[in-house]
Amino acid sequence: MELHLLDRGTIRADLNFALDGEVVATQSAPSPELRYEEFAVWNLVVDHPDGVVLWDTGSDPEAASVWPAPLFEAFGHVDADERDLDTALAEAGYTVDDIDIVVQSHLHLDHAGGLAHFDGTDVPVYVHRRELEHAYLSAKTTAGDIAYLASDFDHDLNWQVVDGDRQLLPGFELLHLPGHTPGLLGAHLEREGTDLLIAGDEAFLAANYEQDREMGSSLVYDSRAWAASKRTLEDRERRTDATVLYGHDPEQFERLSGTL
Ligand SMILES: [Zn+2]
Repeated sequence: MELHLLDRGTIRADLNFALDGEVVATQSAPSPELRYEEFAVWNLVVDHPDGVVLWDTGSDPEAASVWPAPLFEAFGHVDADERDLDTALAEAGYTVDDIDIVVQSHLHLDHAGGLAHFDGTDVPVYVHRRELEHAYLSAKTTAGDIAYLASDFDHDLNWQVVDGDRQLLPGFELLHLPGHTPGLLGAHLEREGTDLLIAGDEAFLAANYEQDREMGSSLVYDSRAWAASKRTLEDRERRTDATVLYGHDPEQFERLSGTL
């Protein structure tokens, strides 16, 4: 199976969102400088002998006008329009029509904004049951989380609802990793050479996983579940020596681009 990491642009945000308490005021430094950093947005094409899988669909290219203003102010995905799905797929030699299966790691607005491309098609879209429930609750009521937009996912889609861990294709296992959201999915891809463990937004940055640095509370739906999901990944990593792919780490994205 061949992997292609797609560049869907850059979100700019305060580093404290990704690394809890990275910058805090103290007695001797009451006004420390906040760090406004760049975070990678990627999708992944898994060209498997049994079908071409697209992992996540990125932000809506119209994020600047579609995202709730306070969210776009805090998480500025200003190049979403230049780094749309068609452009990123073309760079890897694919079109939307080549995609046989979509997997949504979760339905937050920086991951589900390309689902409109599959509206009215029979392309199966895999999502965890708890994610779909939480997304609709969030988008259609005042409960839940503002990072879910009905305009992203409330389409005529061929949803395939996942209830737990599950084999998607031979050597491609979906893992339920609740924490960041109730229904976050990761994956374990068995490959010749090094396996790949997709942690996704379970760990925004390498430091969340490798240094046990928690993400800010606004990015964690359930912190106990988050810690348990991290152990799930660590167990797999220990057994397989896999590469762990993080959700938004710009250095890792740079390093892995073109080499996966
Ligand atoms: Zn994300």
